[in-house]
Amino acid sequence: MRLVSYIPQDGSQAADCKGRTAVVTESGLVDLNRTDLGLPTCMRKLLKMGPDALEKARAVGEKGEAFSRDSVQLLAPLPRPGKIVCIGANYADHARESGIEPPSEPVVFNKFPTAVLEPGGTVMLPSVSDRVDYEAELVVVLGRQGKNIPIENALDYVAGYTCGNDISARDWQKGKPAKQWLLGKTFDTFAPFGPELVTKDEVGDPGQLDIQLRLNGETMQSSRTDLLIFSVPFLISYISQICTFEPGDVLFTGTPQGVGDARTPPIYLQDGDETEVEIEKIGVLRNKVQRIDAS
Ligand code: ZN
Repeated sequence: MRLVSYIPQDGSQAADCKGRTAVVTESGLVDLNRTDLGLPTCMRKLLKMGPDALEKARAVGEKGEAFSRDSVQLLAPLPRPGKIVCIGANYADHARESGIEPPSEPVVFNKFPTAVLEPGGTVMLPSVSDRVDYEAELVVVLGRQGKNIPIENALDYVAGYTCGNDISARDWQKGKPAKQWLLGKTFDTFAPFGPELVTKDEVGDPGQLDIQLRLNGETMQSSRTDLLIFSVPFLISYISQICTFEPGDVLFTGTPQGVGDARTPPIYLQDGDETEVEIEKIGVLRNKVQRIDAS
């Protein structure tokens, strides 16, 4: 099943949640709550309700009235995620191109929810950086609360997957005292993800997916998630030693070789660029790029 968050044409949404939730069908989108009042308006609440609610959502796709996806504005599947946890240097080839040895334990950082950008939305290049880069990443959406999760059960805590682009200001990430990964990665609009939350039953093994990034149509990254140093189950287990995962948290799993900063000469995102992240079985995330006027 594929789910999206969206803003309807009339703009109506629940006061306590951004956007509405729909299931993707062959004839278009079907709004969950409008078809079945037992289902919530927003994605995070749907995930909190657990597997039974997801089964109900599946049924909604078969009986509800469909509308065109082009008639509404899509949001990120979780427009306001709980945590946005990110993994750095999780592909050996990317670690080496960044000048660091492949790590022996996960390198973990985060982004704030204000960094979220919708599919089709515009990455805003800040006036205080001239080294903004792309990073294609598999994003895991958590569907269940858990702490100290064993690796063997870790995928039970996953609702599904989506595409992400870990936009990174390298001059902040690498050039500031003590390296400010958080600041370099959490400028507003630096966390595009989507367009669809694809439930895990449709994806199968998250460690067997082709992943690519295209910049203005040219392939810049092309790899497979079997090259992840730390697998999705390992990451969930490892991070859950520290903090409780909750439904609606998202996990960016790291990027493969081919980022712009590691090229000679380097390539940074420019005003007017278009990025596409494509992941096998999951979809394509497209975004535009615009420079914020420094004046
Ligand atoms: Zn990254």
